[in-house]
Amino acid sequence: MLKLSPAIKNYAWGVVGTDSKVALLSKGVIEQKPYAEMWLGTHKDGCATVHLNDAGDKIDLINFLKENPTWNKVSGSQELTGQLPFLLKVLSVAQPLSIQAHPNKQLAVKLHKEQPQHFPDDNHKPELTFALTPFSALAGLEINSIAIERLSSFESLSELMKTIGFCSEDILAKGGDEYSLSREACRMLTASSDEIKAKFVVSMKQLVDKAQQILVEAKDKTTISPNVTMSLQLFVSLCSATSSPTDTGPVLAAFFLCHRKLSPCDAIFLSANVPHAYLSGDCVEIMATSDNVVRAGLTPKHCDPVILSSMLDDCGVEQMKMIPQLPTSSPDGSVTTFFIPSISDFCLQRACVSASNTSSSPVIIPMMNVPRILLVLGRPCMIEAVHVSKSSKSQETSHDEEIKQEHTKKEDEKEKENPRKFNPLMKLFAEEGTALLIQPGTQLILSVADPSHSQMSSSSSPSSESFNPSHSQIIPSDCSMIFIASENVRA
Ligand SMILES: [Zn+2]
Repeated sequence: MLKLSPAIKNYAWGVVGTDSKVALLSKGVIEQKPYAEMWLGTHKDGCATVHLNDAGDKIDLINFLKENPTWNKVSGSQELTGQLPFLLKVLSVAQPLSIQAHPNKQLAVKLHKEQPQHFPDDNHKPELTFALTPFSALAGLEINSIAIERLSSFESLSELMKTIGFCSEDILAKGGDEYSLSREACRMLTASSDEIKAKFVVSMKQLVDKAQQILVEAKDKTTISPNVTMSLQLFVSLCSATSSPTDTGPVLAAFFLCHRKLSPCDAIFLSANVPHAYLSGDCVEIMATSDNVVRAGLTPKHCDPVILSSMLDDCGVEQMKMIPQLPTSSPDGSVTTFFIPSISDFCLQRACVSASNTSSSPVIIPMMNVPRILLVLGRPCMIEAVHVSKSSKSQETSHDEEIKQEHTKKEDEKEKENPRKFNPLMKLFAEEGTALLIQPGTQLILSVADPSHSQMSSSSSPSSESFNPSHSQIIPSDCSMIFIASENVRA
C-alpha cells in the first residue's frame, strides 16, 4: 500500500475553515475559505497524488497506475490507461448545491462529443452518498399526492403556476405515473421562456412574503402539515440564498423534489437522470469517474433545460434506492458493511475498528484482485498489508491461473524497465484522513492503534493535527471508521 494525498476543491458552497470536515481531512494549512470536496481518484480535474517513498517523491495516481501494471487491475489485458473506474470523495456542504442530474452512459458519450466545454467526460456519473453527519438533500421527483398538498396549501404559488400553463387537473387527467406533476413542473420551470421568467421575477418577492405569512399564521395552530411547513421554510431559505431573480430553482426544489434527511450512516444511491441537490452536512461520496452535470437551477452556472427535460422521461419509477447493507459482524463486535449498487463502476466497504480489535483480534479485509482506495476517519488505527500469494488464491482454474501468470510476467518485465523507485508500506499507524492505495492481491489487517506505534508514521510527514472527537460526531470516540472504495466486481 502507498499513501495518497487528495485533490481539494474550494467551491463556494463548502464549509469554511476548520469547521469543514474536508479541510480537517486534507491535512494542509487551513485558511478561512470554503473547503467543499476532497477527491481520491484519477479524474483529470483532480487527480490524487501518490507518495512514493520517505524521500518525498510524488507522482499523479493516474501515471503511477499506468507505469505499474501490478498495481492496476490484474485481470485486465487491455492497454492500461491508469484510470480507476471510481472516484471517492468527502463533501462538506454549507450551502445548497445546484439542482442537477447526471446523464446515463449513452447520453454522456453524445453530450461530451457535442459539447465538451460543458461535459468534460464521456462517462456516466451514478453516485452513492453516505452521510457522516445529519445530511439534508433533495433527491428524486416528489410523488403527486405530496406535490398536490404543497400546492393547495400555497394558493399564491398554484395561481402563479397556472399563469405559466401548469394546471394540476389537466396533467393528472392525462394519466401517467405517480410523478407526473413534479416531472411536468420540473420541465416547465427549467425550460421557462423569458416571458415566464419575467412573471417569476415580479412575483418571487410576493411569494416569499406570502410563504412567511402562512408560516407565521400557522405557528400557534396546526393548520398546515409538516410536509407543507418544510416546503415553505425551504422555499424561503432558498430564495434568500439565490442570487439570480430569474432562477426558478427554489420553487422546483421546495415543492416538486423529494426532501430527504439522512441520519449519519444512512446511504442513498442516485442513478442516472434523477434530479437532486445537496443542502447541508458532511458525506462520503463514491461515483463513477466523471464530472458530467446537467444543471436545472439554484445556480448562476450554465443550465441545460432541453437535455434535462429529455432525461426526466426516464426518471420516476425507480427514483432513488436505499442501498442494501450486508453487514458481517464478528464475535468481537466489529462490523463490516458493503454498499453494492447495481452498476459495475464502484462499491463501498465500511469497516469499524473498535478498542476490542487488538492485534490478536483484528478486523480482516480479504484481498481483491483490483486496486482499492482506503480512507480512515475517526480514531487512528493500525493497518497491515499482507500480500496473498498466488497459490493460496481460491478456486481458480489452472487455465485462468496460466493466463494470469503470463500476464503478471509481462507486467513484472514492464515494471523492471521502469526506473521510478517506490517503497510500499507494509504496516502503518493511520490517523484520521490517511488515504491509501491498496495493491491488488493485498489482504488488510486492521487493529486498534497502539500509541507506541505512532512513531511508525515517520514514513509520511507526521501531522500536527491530533484526532478531535468533536469533529467526528458519528464515530464513537473509541472507533476508527475505514472506507474502502473499489470497482464493483460483483456486478
Ligand atoms: Zn450529483
